[in-house]
Amino acid sequence: MGFQTASDDCIKKGRVTDVYFERVARSLEGRGINPLVSMEVRATDLPGDWEWAIFAGLAEVLELAQELPVSLRALEEGDIFHAGEPVLQVSGKYLDFGVYETAILGLICQASGIATSAARCKHAAGERTVISFGARRMHPALAPMIERNAFVGGCDGVAVVESAVRIGEEPSGTMSHTLILCARDERVAFEAFDESMGPDVKRIALVDTFQDEKFGALFAAEVLGEKLFAVRLDTPGSRRGDFPRIMEEVRWELDIRGFEDVKLFISGGIDEYKILDYNRCADAYGVGTHISNSPVVNYSMDIVEIDGVPMAKRGKKSGLKQLWSCPSCGARIQTLSSSDRPECRECGEEMKAMLSEKLDSGDRLSGDLTPRQIRSRVLEGLSTVRL
Ligand SMILES: [Zn+2]
Repeated sequence: MGFQTASDDCIKKGRVTDVYFERVARSLEGRGINPLVSMEVRATDLPGDWEWAIFAGLAEVLELAQELPVSLRALEEGDIFHAGEPVLQVSGKYLDFGVYETAILGLICQASGIATSAARCKHAAGERTVISFGARRMHPALAPMIERNAFVGGCDGVAVVESAVRIGEEPSGTMSHTLILCARDERVAFEAFDESMGPDVKRIALVDTFQDEKFGALFAAEVLGEKLFAVRLDTPGSRRGDFPRIMEEVRWELDIRGFEDVKLFISGGIDEYKILDYNRCADAYGVGTHISNSPVVNYSMDIVEIDGVPMAKRGKKSGLKQLWSCPSCGARIQTLSSSDRPECRECGEEMKAMLSEKLDSGDRLSGDLTPRQIRSRVLEGLSTVRL
């Protein structure tokens, strides 16, 4: 049977499409209708209480679209956008790309959702470390996509080896409960880990397998001494009670014994709100399902121009737009893309165009940003928004 995923080739051939696009194509072909259309992608609303989101998945859209005779404009990957703002525009003969709407949306809806959840966690955590731990809750074929977007959204590291290789980072991880259970003894487990790992692997002891968090942390400090980088508390929610108080107690007991440098690494059911609650004691977070199973951004893709003339269905504004932002005050407006560069209505500054040309009839106009470059854009953007 094989794994139930579509191959690159299958996606590029347009097989991952809703059948109605094939039926539309056949109907238009039958009458010889094939206008030059411009389609615009935007999200009318954002999930939950999100006031902004991160645009991600563009590199994969370009991977697909560069084989098509289309022109494409978009935000940069890693840009912050809001509900109602255009993020991507594709222009070409309808029959050359209409069938790819399903795939194009799929490439950015999930990527942008994951990047946004990661960005929200990083925003909440500030300087503290956030690691993506949730690939295991999703189909393994998707792990590289999930963790690339977790990383570009702001995670400091990703857990899965293959995901890390593809983004050019070292994978991040601690140790598992299985090590301690198989060794049947925390001392044996900590020592075995320490003996087997090179100096580049941080000694992060998982301390709540058999013991209470406080005594487990002190025991790890006793066994590993100065080599202990952090203790990881992965206490299940059902046993946590007042978790910030447990962390405070662990911190106190480590500190008074001279282990002020040992960090507290927290995992298990973490989201941006728990991070805000735990920040006073925690130094690092492992975030799982909250990022990997993030809500998607519900982008839709609509025709806004036909043969150069503004035209859109009811409920959508016609005409190809430009999105402008003010470099001084952050104000944003949309105009028709043919309009002149506007001045900011708030402060008079010249506004900056957010959408730029990425493909001209299938030719790439710029190279891909690296995952690190995209992540830097996100972190820069996060300093201008509130959670
Ligand atoms: Zn301004």
